[in-house]
Amino acid sequence: MANPIVAVVGRPNVGKSTLFNRIAGERISIVEDTPGVTRDRIYAHAEWLGKNFSLIDTGGIEMSDQPLLTQIRQQAEVAIDEADVIILVTDIENGVTDADEQVARILYRSDKPVILAVNKVDNPERRSDVYDFYSLGLGEPYPVSGVHGVGVGDLLDAVINHFPETADNDDDKTIHFSFIGRPNVGKSSLVNALLGEHRVIVSDVAGTTRDAINTSFTADDGRQFTMVDTAGIRKKGKIYENTERYSLMRSMRAIDDSDVVLVVLNAEEGLRELDKHIAGYAHEAGKAVIIVVNKWDTIPNKDHRTMTDFTNLIRHEFQYLSYAPIIFVSAKTKQRLNQLPKMVEEAYDHARFRVQSSVLNDVLMDALAANPTPTQNGRRLRVYYATQVAVQPPTFVIFVNDPDLMHFSYERYLENQIRQSFDFSGTPIHLIKRKRQ
Ligand code: GDP
Ligand code: GDP
Repeated sequence: MANPIVAVVGRPNVGKSTLFNRIAGERISIVEDTPGVTRDRIYAHAEWLGKNFSLIDTGGIEMSDQPLLTQIRQQAEVAIDEADVIILVTDIENGVTDADEQVARILYRSDKPVILAVNKVDNPERRSDVYDFYSLGLGEPYPVSGVHGVGVGDLLDAVINHFPETADNDDDKTIHFSFIGRPNVGKSSLVNALLGEHRVIVSDVAGTTRDAINTSFTADDGRQFTMVDTAGIRKKGKIYENTERYSLMRSMRAIDDSDVVLVVLNAEEGLRELDKHIAGYAHEAGKAVIIVVNKWDTIPNKDHRTMTDFTNLIRHEFQYLSYAPIIFVSAKTKQRLNQLPKMVEEAYDHARFRVQSSVLNDVLMDALAANPTPTQNGRRLRVYYATQVAVQPPTFVIFVNDPDLMHFSYERYLENQIRQSFDFSGTPIHLIKRKRQ
């Protein structure tokens, strides 16, 4: 299930983010205007000729207050560590620079495939200058114009040619999950505490050449779990390892590779902006989510209201995650940790649940009868029928006379009715409105 990773590296101003946006395209999310969800330029999904991949802009992982060359070198290292294929971006206006040569040398020494892009080739006359870039020793330079979109197709053809063969032994029986969260919330401690309880079966790299380490174990009831490695869990002592943007990028990657995401919060420190950012991404990605409040042992003098107060705070700050169960744990004392596998399992099962069409439409008709559809300018919304078209997350298409007449509040009402009839706790559900004549 893990997509190949493509990293974009290069000097500032060569046009990395322009190219990034061009390749990622306008991805219109089904979850419109979700409060608290910020789009991020460092990581995106992309697709070319039916191949899905994830794209990283290493230029977005700022290594501030370091000399330019150090920054570029570190970005190249991130790319080598994270990516299956690297795009080195240069530009025709500046020609081959010292910095380009330095990065090229670092990339050349890695065993990762590198595709050389020469950007800002906006008109054909400049194409002859492109041959200068052979001197970087990275093979054929691909002339592109990020602004005009020219040459990007050829570049991507070359990129996807280097994707590793996908090992299709990705057996669906195992539930992939990950602990994600800010540094120091206790992710590694939770991992160790959880794995300490179970016999670890596999510890291996699956699918791609990346150095992610997935660990598998079997719970008491026989269900199989695979824990996806996350930022901060295996500290390799590299400088960039502790930068916030890097750990955010790693979190996004782990989220993509997971069926169920355990968002870890630190009870001792309360909620931070970055917590919301990370959780928002999990939600946007349509993953099942469990909120794990760790370090519960550090809260002194707890009474019957402490948990309720904390729950209310979380519900208020993470409104879009209203479906996510919350559990208060301590990696230190192991309080309630034994409940985690069961919760993950339930969230997973809910995310994969399929509702029978007849039952779904019964629920829909009851909902319409109990709360008539709204009108606008004398026109009434008509809802005809619904059908589930996907799982993970459960996605429903609702056929109506005019999608514009379905206001957010009515959509929310229908979602609530569906949730009251079927147990989708732990998973987002998506409603898609479609016009039927
Ligand atoms: P980054 O720092 O490498 O991410 O570079 P940006 O994507 O921010 O681009 C730097 C500048 O180069 C911006 O002013 C872009 O508009 C410009 N630029 C990017 N791609 C092209 C291109 O294909 N042609 C031209 N002429 N300018 C470009
Ligand atoms: P990570 O960066 O999210 O992986 O966090 P770590 O697992 O490295 O934990 C950060 C610090 O918090 C370490 O000093 C841990 O010993 C401590 N810690 C983790 N979990 C708990 C907990 O449940 N209770 C207490 N009191 N400390 C914890």
